[in-house]
Amino acid sequence: MAIRFIVFTITVVALSSSFAHASDPSPLQDFCVAVNDSMAAVFVNGKICKNPMQVVANDFFFRGLNMPGNTSNPLGSKVTPVNVNNLPGLNTLGISLVRIDFAPNGLNPPHTHPRATEVLLVLEGTLYVGFVLSNPPPGMKNPLFTKTLVAGDVFVFPEGLIHFQFNVGKTNAIAFAGLSSQNPGVITIANAVFGSNPPINPQVLTKAFQVGQNVINYLQAQFWYNNS
Ligand code: MN
Repeated sequence: MAIRFIVFTITVVALSSSFAHASDPSPLQDFCVAVNDSMAAVFVNGKICKNPMQVVANDFFFRGLNMPGNTSNPLGSKVTPVNVNNLPGLNTLGISLVRIDFAPNGLNPPHTHPRATEVLLVLEGTLYVGFVLSNPPPGMKNPLFTKTLVAGDVFVFPEGLIHFQFNVGKTNAIAFAGLSSQNPGVITIANAVFGSNPPINPQVLTKAFQVGQNVINYLQAQFWYNNS
């Protein structure tokens, strides 16, 4: 009896560990178009769902991603997201999209998406991209993987890892990226650490970054532009 129980337990553990969730949970119906009107609510699975009888093609439609984002800002880049907040039909479907525009020398600064893997396609220009491993193998110190991409190249940034894209060409660059969440989220490292509101106690940051208080004061005094 005890052995059968142990075998059963091992089997259950082995099976359950093979069901890795690589995106948002699967929907239980064809769609669940997000709606702000709680009086129209039918099902709940992420956001409130629109009455399926009132759903129309436009709920699954977004127009305007042909328009370049404005890169006249300190980073020289602009991220234009198409996610559940502006395409309500994405609700519960575990996927979204961004367009990223870069001026020459434009940077999409180091950031992470807490809920999504990102697969990036370069449409125009030359981008130096990379990500840092979170949990390095023994003997390694946070390995960095980088690549220089040109038009037609595709690169993937695994979920949650810190990554960046930098325009190293002499022209503007354009990229599109699919993200494995209807609402991937973004944490821009510098903004979060040095631009939080209220500021993180400088004693925390002087210790964390092993620098003097003057360096932290300088960094906390900067305006941390949000490009998305
Ligand atoms: Mn990203």
